[in-house]
Amino acid sequence: MTTATRPQLHYLAEEIEQLKAKHLYFRLRVLEGEQKPIATFDGREVINLSSNNYLGLTTHRALRRAAIEATRRYGVGSGAVRTIAGTMKIHMELEEQIARFKGTEACVVFQSGFAANAGTVAAILGKDDLIISDRLNHASIIDGARLSKATIRIYEHKDLADCERICQETRDWPGRKLLITDGVFSMDGDIAPLPQLCELAERYHCIMMVDDAHASGVLGRGGRGTVDHFNCHGRVDIQVGTLSKAIGALGGYVCGSRELIEYLYHRARPFLFSTSHPPSVTATCQAAFTLLDSAEGERLIRKLWSNTKFFKRGLQKLGFNTGMSETPITPVIVGDAARAFEFSRRLFDAGVFAQAVGYPTVPEGQARIRTIVTAAHKRSDLERALDILARVGREMELIH
Ligand SMILES: *Cc1c(COP(=O)(O)O)cnc(C)c1O
Repeated sequence: MTTATRPQLHYLAEEIEQLKAKHLYFRLRVLEGEQKPIATFDGREVINLSSNNYLGLTTHRALRRAAIEATRRYGVGSGAVRTIAGTMKIHMELEEQIARFKGTEACVVFQSGFAANAGTVAAILGKDDLIISDRLNHASIIDGARLSKATIRIYEHKDLADCERICQETRDWPGRKLLITDGVFSMDGDIAPLPQLCELAERYHCIMMVDDAHASGVLGRGGRGTVDHFNCHGRVDIQVGTLSKAIGALGGYVCGSRELIEYLYHRARPFLFSTSHPPSVTATCQAAFTLLDSAEGERLIRKLWSNTKFFKRGLQKLGFNTGMSETPITPVIVGDAARAFEFSRRLFDAGVFAQAVGYPTVPEGQARIRTIVTAAHKRSDLERALDILARVGREMELIH
């Protein structure tokens, strides 16, 4: 028997009505088959510009083989949290492999990038401490900051003068201080000014933390992230990455000193209280990092960037507003949420899947569709997508 909503939850229906009135209500698009550049969502084959599958690894043969082999050898689950009986040999091997890849002493893997950020920030800081955070940092950083009970000060997006003003005002802060930024911002596709932020962290004695969810596998040598891209080695105390985007599977990780990782083993709550990855996921990630360091990985990253440049230039030539983007994430900013959602819907009907995002994911009045090209897109896919974007954009008078 299914349970109908009891009166206690009726207020949720009103909330949903309000979302509909603001044109922020959506249905989930359902993917049939594999996550690929041409994919079938809701029964319609479309050019897929909405996944974070930067290198096309979600369906890569070597990764698939690794997952199947690990399942055959070790089963489907780990059976416990890491601190009880759920640390398998391959979990330790993956952490060592990532630490080597990043050039740090140690690494801890979490169940997701979200858990890595939220678990780490909440574990290393307490109520007497201070967090200095970019306005557009990811929700998982914001939640971690709130869970830590530390004081949170927000600087305007990438605004170094504003960041320094806050550093100045809090220079005699008695507790610990954390300066934290996304490496690549997930809704705008722009890159943090990492060297200058490191300088501020050094000058004002802050712990420096960067969330490279969208930079891992994308920026730096072999996709090592923004720290490598800017040659900031040794200046960032805590590097977060995800295994769910370019790596193609699921998970998150934190890289840093041996002490940091040992502390997180003892204090990061998602690590302590949530079961570890199944062997298939861990083995998939091992295969992905091996691939990143090969000639094929290099070729995929080069293709990702040549596709990015081609597509971004195409959008700009058509007259679309692509905001501040410098990476494969390219927003097309529309402004009004209703129009952004309509644009996305009409594109979908015409054969292009580019998800619309509105408040609270982006600030009010900056609704947009968000496009991401991958290394797996063919040039002809991108040309066709640009043709469709041009036609629908003109029909809606977004461009002329
Ligand atoms: C996607 C994302 C995360 C979360 O990663 P998951 O592995 O999907 O949980 C964290 N930070 C940023 C900036 C992201 O874009």
